[in-house]
Amino acid sequence: MHERGASVRELIAENEALRRQLASLMDQAEGNHAIMMRHQAFDLEIVGAGTFQELVGTIFRLLPVVSDLDAVTLSLVDTDADIYTVMHKLGVDFEAFPNLLFHDNVDGLGYDLTAGRTPKPRLIPFDAATQRHAFPHPPAGLASVAMVPLLRNKRLIGSLNLGSRDPGRFTPLLGTDFVEHMGSIIAICLENVISNEMLKYIGLTDALTGVYNRRYMDRRLVEEISRARRQAYRLSCMYIDIDYFKQVNDTYGHLAGDDVLREVAARIKAELRMTDALGRFGGEEFVVLLIDADLGSASMVAQRIRASVAEKPFVMPEGQMLDVSVSIGVATLDDFERDHAIEGVAQQLVAQADQALYQAKEGGRNRVVAST
Ligand code: GH3
Ligand code: MG
Ligand code: MG
Repeated sequence: MHERGASVRELIAENEALRRQLASLMDQAEGNHAIMMRHQAFDLEIVGAGTFQELVGTIFRLLPVVSDLDAVTLSLVDTDADIYTVMHKLGVDFEAFPNLLFHDNVDGLGYDLTAGRTPKPRLIPFDAATQRHAFPHPPAGLASVAMVPLLRNKRLIGSLNLGSRDPGRFTPLLGTDFVEHMGSIIAICLENVISNEMLKYIGLTDALTGVYNRRYMDRRLVEEISRARRQAYRLSCMYIDIDYFKQVNDTYGHLAGDDVLREVAARIKAELRMTDALGRFGGEEFVVLLIDADLGSASMVAQRIRASVAEKPFVMPEGQMLDVSVSIGVATLDDFERDHAIEGVAQQLVAQADQALYQAKEGGRNRVVAST
């Protein structure tokens, strides 16, 4: 009787121990499931990002939460600053991304690339001095880091750098499958948005001067007119044409002519505000849209542009100095009739500026005429 009582108690104790173990395993499984779900949601979120800004913003916003990290930085290989330049022109606000780091070559990323080796994730203790390239502003107490190479077709395009205050979070003994998976998804997403943005940029800009192309300006003009109608602000337009440009080509050659076009575009741009839009309409003709500017202030800007081109000679390839000038016609939007078709109003505005330009040419060139 006594014997049986003891074994029943043992069984009950064993049963309770098993229940506790099971409960703890269930907790762990639920925890793992939750982590997996969070990562899946993260993957979906970054795959869905349509722009560079959205993708990078999502990575920096979500990854620290989803993966419980104390630091996340992203290094990108950006030879000749192509990515930076295009994203900047497309309006990406880099101040918002202090943890986005650009490197002009792969050597800056800290991977072993000897003899064409494929770089591997590095899970190591944090060291501020040797890891400054990946963590230029590490949070206090950072203890271990994972540097995950971002690879596309075996080409190193960047590095995802994860940091934790827990010294045991990333150690060389841990498996790297998980971070490699994360790295490969992020690499695909990055390459995808970067090439999309590059295409977008090429479609909107003029390859020679880097300013907007005519297609973009036509679209922008329609957008701005409809906004100007809604919000009742002034919109003005400038038509700029280089004087006697054919002579520049004839005297110095087409390539030197191209240099002059680039320099004129740069001088125009330097006189404009961020919100104004400058486009090359073809040949040696530029159009500027001035947002929230009436005829008077647009004419003042036009005078500044005229002066900045005329007052400083252009340096030709063989060191010769060349005087260049532009003529400018200015017009302002005066048709706020909502029932007039926007396309017609847009054409009318540009045509008015073009007529004023014609008068500037007739009047002797190197001058500004405002359409009345
Ligand atoms: P005006 O003062 O009346 O404007 O005289 P112009 O010589 O500037 O005018 P015209 O329209 O006769 O000549 C424009 C020239 O611009 C003709 C062409 O050789 C040149 N041109 C057009 N596109 C380009 C280009 O992409 N590169 C270069 N280098 N020249 C171009
Ligand atoms: Mg012309
Ligand atoms: Mg001309």
